Amino acid sequence: MLSSIRTRFSVARAAICLPHPRNYTTTIDSNAPIELKENPFAKEKIQCVLCKHGINPDYKNVQLLSQFQSPYTGRVYGRHITGLCQNRHEQVEREIIKAQNAGLMPTYHKAVEFLNDPKLFDPEKAIRPHKY
Ligand SMILES: [Zn+2]
Repeated sequence: MLSSIRTRFSVARAAICLPHPRNYTTTIDSNAPIELKENPFAKEKIQCVLCKHGINPDYKNVQLLSQFQSPYTGRVYGRHITGLCQNRHEQVEREIIKAQNAGLMPTYHKAVEFLNDPKLFDPEKAIRPHKY
């Protein structure tokens, strides 16, 4: 009885032609996990407008700085509206103050010649909601 089961098993094994694990000669195993160079599910890195294009705000570039200034009050738009990172926002604020002190930029309104400039963002629709 036991011997007949054994012979049947050996016949079945021979019919399927399963190689014994020790008899593998190739080093590439098709069932081995594939190693990826980069994570395909990685999130896209979010960058602000100035970082994306590698722009350094400068006090002499008044036209660029005036795009971050409100046309009604002359104040600098907040980060929740412009979407700038902390570094660039502080840089923009510093350069705007520098330009205003140098007399290149108005303080309480936007320069008239830059009023029709294309807008980098919509001040009515904040990118991040205001925390207050
Ligand atoms: Zn940035």
